Amino acid sequence: MIYFVSLGPGDPELITLKALRTLREADYIYTPVPVSRKGRHTSKAAEMMLSLGIREEQIQLYDLPMSKDRDGALEAYDLVARTATQKQQDEPNARIAIVAEGDCGFYSSSAYIGEQIEQAGLATEQICGVPAFIACNGRLGGQLVQLEEQCTVIPGEATEEEWTRAWQSTHTIVVMKGSLCEAEIKSAITRYPDRKWHYFEFVGMPKEYITSQTSDILEREFPYFSIIISKCR
Ligand code: SAH
Repeated sequence: MIYFVSLGPGDPELITLKALRTLREADYIYTPVPVSRKGRHTSKAAEMMLSLGIREEQIQLYDLPMSKDRDGALEAYDLVARTATQKQQDEPNARIAIVAEGDCGFYSSSAYIGEQIEQAGLATEQICGVPAFIACNGRLGGQLVQLEEQCTVIPGEATEEEWTRAWQSTHTIVVMKGSLCEAEIKSAITRYPDRKWHYFEFVGMPKEYITSQTSDILEREFPYFSIIISKCR
């Protein structure tokens, strides 16, 4: 069985017991190491698992190119899918895990990797987890949505019409992948001053940064690991 294991947003205490048990029992845990123009970064996922007692020999690191052009990332996911498939065919009793940040069923690379593995005829199972936007709202306190309110999630990119509809609605708007829409958010902050704006970076990690001051958000350079939550109250 190949398990897609959700790690949660980064705080080791926000992994589920089921995910942790699955990792403890896994023989091979495929884990991304972000690689950017600045070089190879440390794998936050690997660090977090080691802090939870997962053994180094279980962790199989793979390079994940981080850039706006998705081709490098897709190649990396293809390679993981092929490697995990081959491993499972060579060792039918091996327990294989592929980790994902947040929840593995929410804008996750697991979708793409899973399709390839299923096409090869292997069984997969998803272990759900805490998505980052839920952790962001938890840091803020209060309800993300309550009573009849609705929530719209935008994955960093949308048409002009979709953005306008979102800002003009009374919905709570969650925007993922902040680096893709920094200009849109900054312009919306000035155009929709009656909305409340909350900004989150690296939630649950040592370099976490959170602010609800629009002047701070306007000065910030948004990294990829940022989320904006805008509410009407
Ligand atoms: N599966 C993830 C989402 C992956 S899409 C989940 O369930 O949350 C990648 C986006 O998730 C990033 O661009 C960022 O917007 C958000 N994200 C993931 N972890 C985050 C964190 N610790 N802090 C802030 N944003 C995070």
